Amino acid sequence: MKTKGRIIIHTGDGKGKTTAALGTVFRALGHGQKVCVIQFIKGQGKYGERILAEKLENLDWHICGKGFVFKKENVEEDRKIAEEGFRLAAEIIASDRYDLVVLDELTYLPALDFLAAEKIVETLRTKPERLNIIVTGRKAPPELVEIADTVSEVRVVKHAYQQGIKAQKGIEF
Ligand code: ATP
Ligand code: MG
Repeated sequence: MKTKGRIIIHTGDGKGKTTAALGTVFRALGHGQKVCVIQFIKGQGKYGERILAEKLENLDWHICGKGFVFKKENVEEDRKIAEEGFRLAAEIIASDRYDLVVLDELTYLPALDFLAAEKIVETLRTKPERLNIIVTGRKAPPELVEIADTVSEVRVVKHAYQQGIKAQKGIEF
């Protein structure tokens, strides 16, 4: 078996994609590895993971979004934020400063037509050899699935929201 940096995708409509990526972040940090999390689409907000991240030395965190953008009110601004975010991600990937880079909710960029899937593929294909990359988000584009080493799909069986239970601190944020 070969050892090399991996491209991992967590996709599907069930809960657990981002939190599974954060579990891997926890694991990598435990080994003293350097980690960078880049969050697309999601805006500022007091997520528990971000509060903890500020206290962790080997973990860098970037927010490249302004909140879920499915209302299509200001598409050009949303596109610009997405493009700039991905440019930053590409620089971070190429820098070879990290062992693990998480691109959280990245799949929404091609899904919303903010970024061509080919552009993501090209960036991931030319990543530093040792770097592990995790991409999360629903509707992973087939081009990305094709080049990934590990792809997991989380399927919704039930979700509390469907029973009218609201987002809860420590569980959803
Ligand atoms: P988590 O961050 O909890 O691991 P996720 O990354 O799998 O969730 P996203 O698609 O990023 O899920 O969803 C963002 C928010 O919506 C999260 O707060 C998540 O808990 C919640 N959520 C996830 N799946 C569902 C669902 N099937 N129905 C309603 N809300 C959901
Ligand atoms: Mg998520």
